[in-house]
Amino acid sequence: MVIIMSPNANDEEIQVVTDRIDELGFEIHRSTGKSRTILGIVGLDINLDPRTFELMDGVTEVVRVTEPYKLASRTFKPESTVVEIGDISFGGERVPVIAGPCSIESHKQVNRIAEIVANAGGTILRGGAFKPRTNPYSFQGLGEEGLKLLREAADAHGLLTISEVMDASQIAIVSQYVDILQLGARNMHNFAFLRELGICRKPVLLKRGFAATIEEWLQAAEYILAGGNEQVILCERGIRTFETYTRYTMDISAIPVIHKLSHLPIIADPSHGTGRRDMVASMARAALAADADGLMVEVHDNPGEARCDGAQSLLPEQFAVLMGELGQMAPVVGRTL
Ligand code: PEP
Ligand code: MN
Repeated sequence: MVIIMSPNANDEEIQVVTDRIDELGFEIHRSTGKSRTILGIVGLDINLDPRTFELMDGVTEVVRVTEPYKLASRTFKPESTVVEIGDISFGGERVPVIAGPCSIESHKQVNRIAEIVANAGGTILRGGAFKPRTNPYSFQGLGEEGLKLLREAADAHGLLTISEVMDASQIAIVSQYVDILQLGARNMHNFAFLRELGICRKPVLLKRGFAATIEEWLQAAEYILAGGNEQVILCERGIRTFETYTRYTMDISAIPVIHKLSHLPIIADPSHGTGRRDMVASMARAALAADADGLMVEVHDNPGEARCDGAQSLLPEQFAVLMGELGQMAPVVGRTL
């Protein structure tokens, strides 16, 4: 952290700031120019709040020069992390595609969709059993019964599984049936829950909160990493902006930003990002072009009757076409599907 003093700051004001830095246990690198003094804080200052200094007399500006996270940063670990799950990996050359319904509705539904996903080249079957619904009267998911159906359908079609876990008490039960735990956008700021995910030893798909900055998102990842769970995959799923045409605004630029700031793999979810079936394929292609390490797409064989998010679920034939397009595109960006 660098503290830039005002050109009008007097010696006493500079001394007060210097004493405060000293009290906090940091060394100071002081440079006195012709017009102003700059105080550099030397040492790990992740926990320092810039406002501590911003409000002091004679201070013009405080600039953070280190990220407020460590384990998640590329500065700390320059080489990209590859999260391996069975024979699939996120962060390597191959770009896995996670697909399936928003929620698991029945044995028949999840089996039909598993077949569609597998035939088109998807490798991981998604489906919520515990659903975070905005309205308490909306379908809340089938619970453990849904997880069983998901696992059976995936096994029957050679797929891995992912499902959302809504609070720490569900980690054990969901872990019995899935290969990846999904932490939903609405829970990205649930720090006690993030800590519990850090203690567990399952890969975690950490969705970006829809009002979270990239820096906040990486600090959420830091919670999980700090607990010792290194298998974290980030997922851009759209953020809330002033635009109302789409459900959220797909922040494609977050993908290269994450690659720059962090070594963790990042995938994109254009289904929740747009909320509209007719926009999903183009945003999926855009995410691959932007160097996403994977994709998550909602697919339903009868979206008109879906109990959740039918409007943003691709029809089976649309999903197959998209997979073909992604397969053609992947080599252009140095990947394979
Ligand atoms: C989902 O993937 O079904 C979901 C609820 O996603 P999000 O947390 O991104 O809204
Ligand atoms: Mn959904």
